[in-house]
Amino acid sequence: MKRASITGASQVTFILGHPVSHSLSPAMHNAAFEKLELPWLYTPLDISFKELGPVLKMMRSFNVKGANVTVPYKEAVLKYLDFIEPDAKWLGSVNTLYRRGEKLCGTSTDGEGFLRSLGRYRQKFKGSRGLLIGAGGAARAVSGALAKEKVKGFYVANRSGVKAARLVNLLRKRYPRLDVQAVSLKDAEPLTAYSDWIIQATSLGLHGEKSPLSLRKSRKGTLVVDLIYHHETDLLKQAKRFDLPRLGGLGMLLHQGALSFEYWTGQKAPLAVMEQALQEGLKRR
Ligand code: NAP
Repeated sequence: MKRASITGASQVTFILGHPVSHSLSPAMHNAAFEKLELPWLYTPLDISFKELGPVLKMMRSFNVKGANVTVPYKEAVLKYLDFIEPDAKWLGSVNTLYRRGEKLCGTSTDGEGFLRSLGRYRQKFKGSRGLLIGAGGAARAVSGALAKEKVKGFYVANRSGVKAARLVNLLRKRYPRLDVQAVSLKDAEPLTAYSDWIIQATSLGLHGEKSPLSLRKSRKGTLVVDLIYHHETDLLKQAKRFDLPRLGGLGMLLHQGALSFEYWTGQKAPLAVMEQALQEGLKRR
């Protein structure tokens, strides 16, 4: 495989966030550009809140095709955009920017990326009940995707009960048939016995912390998903111990990235190459 040279016709894409030096997205996207022999570049931009507006203004007029947006700007970018796709607007979260002429548009590929990462387990979700842990940006994206996938209902357990209740209200308004309820994190454990799936969408576990939930009472076949992709979390280790089907977050990272790539290039993303770049990036850490 040959790296296409950067030329006068090259296009630039970014990941905007703070911090971004740890991100695996540059490796994933640059490998994809290389595979398709596109003379494009994907580069991290570590910016402050006050730099966000000027950077987005610059994106409208230069040879910039688009960007990913990560913590802490997924919500903050909304006010600078000319167009926001309806799901991203409802979620209040944008992870992908793309240009249509002079217009700067925003969407979120997190929810669809999550669904695609489920692979053969996706068929378990229609009509199912489960437990979603977390009420931050990732949990919001996943909850919207679950509602669209026609799950019957789920509990939202979060450290901050106010944020869980806010997410539940939002979901009830948008999806009146969805049976969704907030529950405190400390009361969530018994619910694992009645869940077809458990999705962990908090940052707890990023640094090897123990999960506040034990899966001891989970029933056979309950799918356990942890959106953290850096390593096998305590929750996933428990799932292994109790012989439950399980998935980490790398698949979601891959598929949300592939969808962003397709927005920018209009070409099918080379998934195998992108996945390999992610795996290698993780090994280098
Ligand atoms: P966020 O918007 O900052 O939300 C953080 C969530 O984690 C909130 O629910 C927060 O609870 C909870 N939390 C943080 N520290 C906690 C603690 N010590 N104990 C209990 N709960 C705690 O972040 P996010 O964007 O939703 O990301 C959440 C996780 O998902 C991160 O680990 C991120 O790496 C992962 N993620 C993965 C992908 C992927 O592609 N695989 C994509 C996006 C995110 P409070 O509301 O109580 O603060």
